[in-house]
Amino acid sequence: MSEVPGPPSVSQLLIGLARLGQAVRMEAWRNAGPHNLSPLQADIVTLLHGKPHPIRQGEIVTALASTPPTVSDAVKVLRKKELLEGSRDPGDARALLLGLTPLGREEADRLRSQSETLSGAVAALSPSDFAAMLRGTTTLMRELQERRAIPISQMCLTCRFFVPRAHPDNPDRPHHCNFVDTPFGDAELRVTCPDHETA
Ligand code: SF4
Repeated sequence: MSEVPGPPSVSQLLIGLARLGQAVRMEAWRNAGPHNLSPLQADIVTLLHGKPHPIRQGEIVTALASTPPTVSDAVKVLRKKELLEGSRDPGDARALLLGLTPLGREEADRLRSQSETLSGAVAALSPSDFAAMLRGTTTLMRELQERRAIPISQMCLTCRFFVPRAHPDNPDRPHHCNFVDTPFGDAELRVTCPDHETA
């Protein structure tokens, strides 16, 4: 006899999220590309590409919620592959700043193109489901950030320029970004934005 569906189950949602995370990770392994990047190496290249200037290794550890030895090993490999270069930090002679080489920037551009499998699956969502998922994802991310379970992201929900529900008479674009002075909707929420400033 089949079970009668009960109230919404947190465990079912968590299992679903874990499956999605698995799919993203598997695609990252498949997308190793010409430099045979591991998912962590790809994450480092992508992170550095989003930074306006080179950063310290410790910042990479924090941003990716990893450990110093793990990031150190990945950085060594990336420097051997000539995707990363180090320069002395003018503020601290003992510290090294890490940035992308021209080859690294080329690889970052390749990584930016979405996997067809993942983008094809996302394309199956209706516009309202897409907006609801983005809203739910950013809400979960903010809650997990507040519980220090994941690193801080530069997302709208924690940005000083974000004014939620500033336009109640505009259901499609109820929020406002004071940085570009424009209304926008849930489907345009950012989980990472170069113009973000922490609220
Ligand atoms: S600056 Fe970026 S993160 Fe901040 S509200 Fe605007 S779009 Fe969102």
